[in-house]
Amino acid sequence: MKALVILEAVNNRFSSTDQRLIDFATRMCPNVDVLAINCNVVRIMVLKRINNVFIFACKRPINVLRDYHRLSLIVSGLLLKYDIVLVDNNSNLHHILCCAGAAINRCVISGIHDVIDYNVFAMLLHDGKLLKYISFKHPSPWLMSVRLFYPTLLFESKKPDRQPSLTSRIQIINFNTDHCLKLLTYSRKDLGPYGLDLPKLTEADIVIAGGRSFGTSENFKKWLLPLALKLGAAIGTTRGAVELGCAPSELQIGGNYQVISPKLYIAFGISGSDHHLAGIRFVKSIVAVNTDINAQIFSLSNYAIASDMYKVITKMMDWLQKNTVKNTDFLINKFRNTV
Ligand SMILES: Cc1cc2nc3c(=O)[nH]c(=O)nc-3n(C[C@H](O)[C@H](O)[C@H](O)COP(=O)(O)OP(=O)(O)OC[C@H]3O[C@@H](n4cnc5c(N)ncnc54)[C@H](O)[C@@H]3O)c2cc1C
Repeated sequence: MKALVILEAVNNRFSSTDQRLIDFATRMCPNVDVLAINCNVVRIMVLKRINNVFIFACKRPINVLRDYHRLSLIVSGLLLKYDIVLVDNNSNLHHILCCAGAAINRCVISGIHDVIDYNVFAMLLHDGKLLKYISFKHPSPWLMSVRLFYPTLLFESKKPDRQPSLTSRIQIINFNTDHCLKLLTYSRKDLGPYGLDLPKLTEADIVIAGGRSFGTSENFKKWLLPLALKLGAAIGTTRGAVELGCAPSELQIGGNYQVISPKLYIAFGISGSDHHLAGIRFVKSIVAVNTDINAQIFSLSNYAIASDMYKVITKMMDWLQKNTVKNTDFLINKFRNTV
């Protein structure tokens, strides 16, 4: 019997669940191969009890949800070489395995918790209160997603006989992330209100925001979108701008709305009402651009630019055309040195 375990490393690191999934597979098959997403040749060596390894060569990390179509194709090509294929039930790889299985007319049994005997598996249902035994009726490959969440209390798990072995062979699969990005189909909601893949407000390192002084949604987009794209920043706004129709409500920052905590926040034409300031209280560095030197936002800001916001945006865009922003700290230093 041969088993393939599909794993996804996060930040090039595997979790203990990944090793437990491999250990689970070794209880059924002496030969466990691994298809590893988003890890390099060095990192794969931390995993024990694995035989052959497939890893991907690509410029950027693979986004399992976005690239599922091409990943499923690659996985379906591998499935027929194995008797058992396993993924973690709680990962997005479950979806990949379902799509790949459909291509070879196999379904995925999800939530398998323990292996009892040859082709007898246990599933725990209803928060572990109900036990169900499962057997595959069709020929291999058997596709399963394993739930390692529940503690293994019900069955005495047999220790694997095999000693930990080093990886014997690593095969590299080329995966062109540039090309696959063009093949993507997104729903409009996934892309945010502007139909662009900007970072989420609550997750971004840099947030730029505009107030109602932009006047119209066309003006708001015309000035802020190019800058956000250049900086890789999320766009935020005030309730004043939302009420005027300058910006969509999902971009509103404020105490009862969204509290943000980026490293850098740049406010263009925002007065700094208490409601708005409550939403940016966890920001590390605040840069405020306002023509009114008495604007309340200056009281909280680390860097104050008393100037016309259009002039500042134009200058920033000119500077960004000629310079590359290495990271957010580099940009904050730039403000420190110039403001
Ligand atoms: C119950 C309640 C809840 C609220 N919750 C929120 C909330 O969660 N979030 C929120 O943001 N607001 C909230 N508000 C609204 C808030 O009180 C303010 O009215 C709003 O934040 C002001 O938005 P603004 O800064 O865009 O507009 P304004 O207060 O009108 O400020 C515009 C600023 O732009 C400057 N400006 C104009 N032209 C230029 C230029 N060319 N260059 C540079 N600067 C320029 C002006 O000097 C001014 O300071 C709430 C209000 C209420 C009553």
